[in-house]
Amino acid sequence: MSSTPDNCLIYLDGKWKELGYLPTSPVYNPSRGSILAHVPLCGPAEVNLVVDSAKRAFPNWRDTPPNERAQVLFRLKILLEDAFEELCLGIATEHGKTLSEARGDLRRGIEVVEFACGIPTLLMGESLENIARGIDCHTDRHPLGVVAGICPFNFPALVPMWMWPIAIACGNTFVLKPSEKVPLTMQRVVGLLEKAGLPPGVMNIVHGGRECVDALLEHPDVAAISFVGSTPVAREIHRKATSFGKRVQAAGGAKNFIVLMPDADVERTAEAVKDGAFGCAGERCMAGSTAIAVGDAGSKLLPALADLVKSMKVGPTDSNDRQPDMGAVISASHRDHVTGLIHRGEQAGAKVLADGRSPLIEEAPDGFFLGPTLIDQVEYGNPLMDTEVFGPVLAVMRASSLDDAIALANRQSYGNGAAIFTNSGKAAREFRRQVSAGMIGINVAVPAPLAYFPFSGWNDSFFGDLHIQGKEGVEFYTQRKTTTTRWFGYGDGEIWAK
Ligand code: NAD
Repeated sequence: MSSTPDNCLIYLDGKWKELGYLPTSPVYNPSRGSILAHVPLCGPAEVNLVVDSAKRAFPNWRDTPPNERAQVLFRLKILLEDAFEELCLGIATEHGKTLSEARGDLRRGIEVVEFACGIPTLLMGESLENIARGIDCHTDRHPLGVVAGICPFNFPALVPMWMWPIAIACGNTFVLKPSEKVPLTMQRVVGLLEKAGLPPGVMNIVHGGRECVDALLEHPDVAAISFVGSTPVAREIHRKATSFGKRVQAAGGAKNFIVLMPDADVERTAEAVKDGAFGCAGERCMAGSTAIAVGDAGSKLLPALADLVKSMKVGPTDSNDRQPDMGAVISASHRDHVTGLIHRGEQAGAKVLADGRSPLIEEAPDGFFLGPTLIDQVEYGNPLMDTEVFGPVLAVMRASSLDDAIALANRQSYGNGAAIFTNSGKAAREFRRQVSAGMIGINVAVPAPLAYFPFSGWNDSFFGDLHIQGKEGVEFYTQRKTTTTRWFGYGDGEIWAK
């Protein structure tokens, strides 16, 4: 990994291109607070270039048989496995998450590539012979054309790979706009796609922020937009892109509740809840950000949880040396924002059980570190409940019954994930049916579905109809054509008369 900051490149027509004339934004190593690279802030002119590249490549790629398209992905899978550890260290370095979390990030992305290798089967249509005498009907799937993906910072590998493996397997060509905070991982992965033999122009990368995104949303040759990011941006992307006639799937932010029942297994629940809340420093759309302790579950579980949280080691993740339990958050401003929320949450009456506001990290004093914070007696109206915190903070609410806990969880506007820890099948079933969220965990703190299932957020956590991943992903990136066929002289009486 280079120690001198580089300029990130855009990728079009199968070539990397440096745009030295554009303003740039720094890409940090959050473990050190140092600059790793500069990313160009592209606008409409550069978006036109990459979309034109994708448009030129589309007819030939659409006509490439699905099994040949799948071969590129089979080769990519091998290349990704060969480069696995190096890519993971890159993810940990540009994001700040631990190496084991980076391995999860890339492993889940590779699973989408594996899923997309099955595209000949996934693309199969339906047919019915003899819908009327001598007339047959069949429906098949066709790609949309040029499709674009706009990504958040928190999963530098997985979130882009939710999108483009399925999109290109379906015969589309792709324009990727990675997060300007973590653009390096996808540059490396696209280098591997090139080696795997992907024809020029099928995959393209453009960099930037809002101006770049707006140009993609407005571009007449972009047929569909996949977006993942915060709710205000997701809502706006969906509104704007649909107004330009595009198909849109826009996954937003989250506030995921974990209900703790009094009969839950203390040790294993505390361990799972700790991982669910503080994995990836809480910067996960499926992080459990609020625990609701029902009845005496609080007095049973919170002391064990507080002990675990206090014992967590925080530190730099940018080398193969001994890894901490938790790495840095993405930026200094995000660290300060989350610290401010904890202060205000405490001032509003909540009780801090484990305080992560001033971690001392001697080996990396300039890193963007926050320790894990466990904060009890949080209620609606507390600043910690007004927003998605997206940091290493677990707020605890109290409820007297499961019904009260479900009512508390359903009061918020998001609906990504929700989990319950219990030994009661009745309580679990009631929770699963009544809670207003799209991904449910039963004794699983982070119920993020694997590649074969949709990432099925609800409410303000998703805008659109067809979710990302799985068969819904295939549905999103294709349109159906239904053909009705009759051959004169066959089936209209003549043939049967013979
Ligand atoms: P973000 O919304 O700030 O940015 C996401 C993308 O949108 C980036 O590529 C960014 O350049 C672009 N962008 C930012 N502001 C924009 C604007 N005003 N107009 C157009 N484009 C804009 O999100 P983030 O901070 O990078 O990522 C964290 C968020 O993503 C959290 O809210 C998290 O919950 C969410 N997320 C959701 C899921 C999910 O599946 N629901 C998955 C991962 C992350």
